[in-house]
Amino acid sequence: MLKLYNYLSRKKERFRPLRPKGTVGLYTCGPTVYDYAHIGNLRTYIFEDILRRALVSFGYRVKHVMNITDVGHLTSDADTGADKIEEGAKRESKSVWDIASFFTKAFLADTRKLQVLRAHILAPATKEIPSQIKIIKQLIRRGYAYETEKAVYFNVPKFRGYTKLSRQPLAQQRTGARDEVIVDGDKKHPADFALWFKLVGRYKNHVMRWDSPWGPGFPGWHIECSAISTKYLGQPFDIHTGGIDHVTIHHTNEIAQSEGAYGKSLARFWIEGEHMLIDSKKMSKSIGNFYTLTDLEARNFDPLAFRYLVLTAHYRSRLNFTWDSLKAAQLSLKRLHDFVHELRAAKLKNNARPHRIFKNADKKFFDALANDLDTPKALSVLWQLVRRYRNTPKDFDPKLVLKLFLKFDTVLGLNLEYKASSITKRSALVENLAKKREGYRQQKEWAKADKIRSQLEKLGFTVEDTKGGYRLKKLPPT
Ligand code: AMP
Ligand code: ZN
Repeated sequence: MLKLYNYLSRKKERFRPLRPKGTVGLYTCGPTVYDYAHIGNLRTYIFEDILRRALVSFGYRVKHVMNITDVGHLTSDADTGADKIEEGAKRESKSVWDIASFFTKAFLADTRKLQVLRAHILAPATKEIPSQIKIIKQLIRRGYAYETEKAVYFNVPKFRGYTKLSRQPLAQQRTGARDEVIVDGDKKHPADFALWFKLVGRYKNHVMRWDSPWGPGFPGWHIECSAISTKYLGQPFDIHTGGIDHVTIHHTNEIAQSEGAYGKSLARFWIEGEHMLIDSKKMSKSIGNFYTLTDLEARNFDPLAFRYLVLTAHYRSRLNFTWDSLKAAQLSLKRLHDFVHELRAAKLKNNARPHRIFKNADKKFFDALANDLDTPKALSVLWQLVRRYRNTPKDFDPKLVLKLFLKFDTVLGLNLEYKASSITKRSALVENLAKKREGYRQQKEWAKADKIRSQLEKLGFTVEDTKGGYRLKKLPPT
């Protein structure tokens, strides 16, 4: 039985899909594509990927939708400051469209390296302007939104239940609220937030602009998620996810918009991932205390070592990033890859008596995942199995251990199979060639032996003759 912590009720609840035999609708808030994602952002996408893979492993079909924020996200999460995309364009001296396209590609490249499955629907906000206008019109019609000279706003006090996700009193909810009063004196309540910005004041020269019933302008950040989720998943849908920093403003506003517009709940489960910290502070672009995946690769870390590190912490715990912990994760991942490699090479043991052990490990692994995605526990099941195999290898059929590991890997996404097979194929070939050469050498067939030596060199190995036979050595990379 799958249980997930629903942030709305602050309880672990049994997960049952809204449509019992249907597809599970999963919505994840996507990146703002004005810069590279930092590894804190990537932690959130990895946790969401584990959720999706776990749902599939429990037999659900999943439809995964993600937005790409390429307009309207201001430098403060509240409605103040400049549009992040327009700022990014200035910084890089590129057009806003080029910036959005470049960093969308960078985001997809990073997540691909981390084995994060791509959303079935990836929807950039700039491609969904008509559906955003549609929902704003609906909000005006239902009395939840109003227009001023500068913008169209959501009228927060009108929507009862505005604080149901955050559970924060309204007065405390919006730190930026007072500044905004100065920005637009016509706002009815300081917590009211913009749905549509008009091209006035600091936004007079905003490059990304569209016509609307309220004049040319651009949408606020929150409205895209309401428009996109409702369009592709309907309302309500099963699960909405994101980082915990979005609870007080972004997710809260999404709920207000979608529920205000259509009078139905937005999503059944709200699953919020905790932060990645650095020196015990939240990793964030604004503080500048962050690393990107490229920074990790530059120090010779495998992106999947970072994925492994993320899995060692529960998604609802904070995770303090250190280079030492990443080093330890890389070592553990290498050990797992070596172990799978060893299993592939091992011979079948006739006296293996595996069934109970396998069944237990299988059950424990998926029970851990079913208990609110307890990945640290799931990893510990894996390691217990490694230890038992190492202690009493004759008790095990290595092919069955391998099969189980690869089943676990469909959720963990650590690429155990690919690495194993490429390493195995290559080393088996090298080993065979070296043996063949040794045979020729013993028969004094020097020409044939030399031919194999050059073949081995092409594969990056040199062979040295020793008293007892030969020794293979890896050549330095050219
Ligand atoms: P953004 O591109 O700023 O909208 O953020 C993308 C995702 O990363 C959102 O789900 C955020 O909640 C999440 N996020 C931002 N900072 C962190 C962090 N330090 N640790 C984990 N997730 C984060
Ligand atoms: Zn969102």
